[in-house]
Amino acid sequence: MSDALVSEAIRPHIALFPSAGMGHLTPFLRLASMLLSNNCDVTLITAKPTVSVAESTHISFFLSTHPEAKHLEFQLPYLQPSNSSTDDPFFIQFEAILRSVHLLHPLLYSLSPPLTAIFSDFVVASGVTRIAVDLGLPHYVVATFSAKFLSLMAYLPILTSDPTKLSSLSTEIDIPGLKPLPVESIPPPFFNSDHLFTANLVSNARALPEVKGILMNTFNWFEPETLSALNSGRVLSNLPPILPIGPLVPYELKREERQYLPWLDNQPTESVVYVNFGSRTAMSKDQIRELQDCLESIEYRFLWVLKSSKVDKDDQEDLEALLSHSFVESTKNRGIVVKGWINQQEILAHPAIGGFVSHCGWNSVGEAAQRGIPVLAWPQHGDQRVNAEVVEKAGLGIWERSWGWGVESLVKQEEIQRKIGELMEDKKLRSTAKKVGEEAKKAGEIGGSSNKVLMQVLQLSIQSL
Ligand code: UDP
Ligand code: UDP
Ligand code: UDP
Repeated sequence: MSDALVSEAIRPHIALFPSAGMGHLTPFLRLASMLLSNNCDVTLITAKPTVSVAESTHISFFLSTHPEAKHLEFQLPYLQPSNSSTDDPFFIQFEAILRSVHLLHPLLYSLSPPLTAIFSDFVVASGVTRIAVDLGLPHYVVATFSAKFLSLMAYLPILTSDPTKLSSLSTEIDIPGLKPLPVESIPPPFFNSDHLFTANLVSNARALPEVKGILMNTFNWFEPETLSALNSGRVLSNLPPILPIGPLVPYELKREERQYLPWLDNQPTESVVYVNFGSRTAMSKDQIRELQDCLESIEYRFLWVLKSSKVDKDDQEDLEALLSHSFVESTKNRGIVVKGWINQQEILAHPAIGGFVSHCGWNSVGEAAQRGIPVLAWPQHGDQRVNAEVVEKAGLGIWERSWGWGVESLVKQEEIQRKIGELMEDKKLRSTAKKVGEEAKKAGEIGGSSNKVLMQVLQLSIQSL
């Protein structure tokens, strides 16, 4: 995107306000970098302290490599969570940020040059809407999930207001304008309207009609029918424009220690199975054992990123304690296991990667799409089953629905082995995944569908000056 449409003379000044977790921070930093290269002023707002070390490391590195970005850090006061439905530190932080968001008002008001728009995370949208109205600023929501999941979220206030609509006894959930969603794809907390996660999403979904637009890390080709149903008012008549601007372009990340890179460089093209369940999914010990036994018995090369706790700073266990001696010995020339943060965008760009076993966090899906890498979807939580459906429908990957949610079922090694074989051998899948890669690339090029939408949003924000 070097051909910036926005001229040097009149510059938008956009505040970007992500919430907690790498899955939320990453799309905002990518967007910040894209806006800076289009002659926008950017103020990044972050809450302090962050939940994970990865977040604070990525924020510091981004600011050091983008000195033109302004940073507004706001200290979160300690707040007792409003209920005890979850001990998930990321959800507790969502709530703490939302309840403290009014503190931002004077800080945003005094920024110079004045702001021309605020782009906020969906999970803080209801609070930011009030500030944006007071300051007379256009407010765009940045959705960190798929358009398909957005349709469920937008409809959630209606679903939760009538227990018969969202009942675990149903087999399908009807959302107007869309194919019914299987009840198994609905995140379990949605069946409890008092759950912190559900209460947060419902309150933010209610704010959507007030916002100027919803920026989506997706592209038209990837979710055409859902986007068209949402934008034609068939899902809900009062939604703002849904603006697909993805997949968001990765920026250069810090070069961590990368002992796996020389190893990857020595592997044949498309020969390595890459296994990573994102920044915050800890697998059970039993599931880790099944996966280990599978990787030991298959013939494929592999790069496995292993996490045993939800938040990185709690991850104390050594690999030796998690893996068997026989696994380590028998796979030492064929695979690598990494504990800790790796640079996934760099790994997915490596020609040796042949398949991605993924939890289908939406950023991971976008990154696989950008590179046209076939995905074996193994959704664990939240929006990931809905995302897996998108992956399968677009031809990017395969999904074994019977594996269930991560926490509730144990998938045996033979099962995993069978699906990895399919992932690596299915030539049709490899070619449809490549096609997704080509379409993703086209969407981001100058004049491509996503690029055009972003440029229109930027143009609109200068017209309001
Ligand atoms: N990521 C990474 N290295 C890791 C784990 C995750 O680079 O070891 C990145 C990944 O590329 C993605 C983000 O962190 O951009 C995770 O977001 P996603 O939506 O895929 O899943 P979540 O972590 O939110 O479950
Ligand atoms: N749909 C529609 N018009 C059409 C085809 C489909 O409104 O011409 C609806 C269809 O009922 C489906 C929804 O759009 O529920 C989205 O379909 P899908 O899950 O296949 O999503 P996509 O990946 O195409 O966005
Ligand atoms: N969840 C999610 N993303 C995650 C982890 C959890 O969306 O990375 C969802 C998941 O559906 C989970 C819910 O949030 O059931 C509540 O999480 P909590 O920690 O309260 O309970 P869990 O069900 O994980 O034991």
